[in-house]
Amino acid sequence: MTINQSGWRPTTPQAGEASGATFTGNRALMLEEPLIFEIGSTETTGVDFAEAPSGKSRLGGLERSKTIGLPGLSEPEAVRHYTRLSRQNYAIDLGLFPLGSCTMKHNPRLNERMARLPGFADLHPLTPVDACQGAFEVIHQLAHWLVTLTGMHSVAMSPKAGAHGELCGVLAIRAALDAKGEQGRKVLLVPESAHGTNPATAAFAGFSVEDIPATEAGRVNLEALKARLGPDVAGVMITNPNTCGLFEPDMRAISDAVHAAGGYVYCDGANFNAIVGRVRPGDLGIDAMHINLHKTFSTPHGGGGPGSGPVVFSEALTPYAPLPFVEKQGDQFVLVEEETAGEHHASSFGRMVAFHGQMGMFTRALTYILSHGADGLRQVAEDSVLNANYILRSMEDVLDAPFAKSGPCMHEAIFSDRGLPEGFSTIDVAKGLIDEGFHPMTVYFPLVVHGAMLVEPTETESKATLDQFIHAFRFVAEKAKGGDLAIKTAPHYAPRRRLDETLAARKPVLVYKEPERAQAAEVPLRS
Ligand SMILES: *Cc1c(COP(=O)(O)O)cnc(C)c1O
Repeated sequence: MTINQSGWRPTTPQAGEASGATFTGNRALMLEEPLIFEIGSTETTGVDFAEAPSGKSRLGGLERSKTIGLPGLSEPEAVRHYTRLSRQNYAIDLGLFPLGSCTMKHNPRLNERMARLPGFADLHPLTPVDACQGAFEVIHQLAHWLVTLTGMHSVAMSPKAGAHGELCGVLAIRAALDAKGEQGRKVLLVPESAHGTNPATAAFAGFSVEDIPATEAGRVNLEALKARLGPDVAGVMITNPNTCGLFEPDMRAISDAVHAAGGYVYCDGANFNAIVGRVRPGDLGIDAMHINLHKTFSTPHGGGGPGSGPVVFSEALTPYAPLPFVEKQGDQFVLVEEETAGEHHASSFGRMVAFHGQMGMFTRALTYILSHGADGLRQVAEDSVLNANYILRSMEDVLDAPFAKSGPCMHEAIFSDRGLPEGFSTIDVAKGLIDEGFHPMTVYFPLVVHGAMLVEPTETESKATLDQFIHAFRFVAEKAKGGDLAIKTAPHYAPRRRLDETLAARKPVLVYKEPERAQAAEVPLRS
């Protein structure tokens, strides 16, 4: 591929691409966009800086010896570059986002309005406590509602995402076991269907991880779990509702068995959306659970952040919860830190973050809770389950739905690639959906289902939107079922064709070299 002076490059149609490729590579309002390294140059800049005054360097010989080599553009070029790239994103504000296990739902604008109030948005984390009482009241109120909704005893607000919350929970379990002199409990049991973060967290916190098998019906095998409990087991990490979109009806029995054997129960509460207002995890014997504010309580997910994963604790684990937290003393809100914790919280395992958590997310989540009220939150759970079941029942005659026979699902519907002809798989259906203007569902996860397709519509989608998605999903699934070869090279209409995702994940090209290298992950497909 050649790149001329201005970075503009003529394109050649690729195999499998829609015929009639244009001269520019643009397709009407869908604009091609090269890398900024290809269009910018180190000699160009959008601003004029006055010559730096010469003087003695105080960098002790550490100053840069070569130019930094970053490409420069004029301001309008830079604005266009990033705006063009942003238009290649799929977003919840563009359409339904069927990713399972991710709860991608509408972020109400009211939340944004509240989070942008200058008293919240412009707060500095070192603002003196008496100058930001309102912010502490928000944290305190949100903590109150999270504890109330979950029926738990306390909450640590500071963890910054679900996985960070898991780490917080298992560190509290570790601290509680150590306090009892039970250092020998080193095994955390994790069901086969667990979200990948669960075993990763357990291993990161120094536990060894053992699988618990699933039953035919996609639930935890209670007998297998009981058989494995013993003096080396620290506890279990269970997702409920689980990642097959199913509720664990034996949860109480699981908790009782784990407690009787001296362990603790961690619940991955990322799927709380499906049961909020209907089930209190505290009633199920759970000791620690993270809540993803960026899922259930509608704060935005954005490129891995800013998330927020508060962790609720049972009475047994509360003494080990991390600092800081906000407490109300008289009519003042105070921040309980290491210096002020006193005897009461002397067993705290430490802290998760430098400051107090994600203020912007707290404001959004509290707005969401208060604007929905108890009845509204209950309806969230009911409608999200209804929507998932609508998809399940609308698709089960086209795609294999492994758990459909055992009854309704919770918030997400799961399908498998059984029944697709030889040579066709889940990936073809997923890529076909891109051409239809939908982000693909979660694929090949959970691992207990062959070629899994996990769809979570959430409650914020209307019947009209669901119907449109179902029609597209059926159309694509039927193409795959009918052995339509065109779908093997989908997507045809996206800015890029099918990528070698393994290569991209294993050998990401993070440093710009020459154009050929930057294209390494794009494998032209020949049909
Ligand atoms: C999203 C999710 C997580 C991880 O949450 P992050 O905020 O992405 O770290 C963990 N478990 C389950 C079941 C999830 O859906």
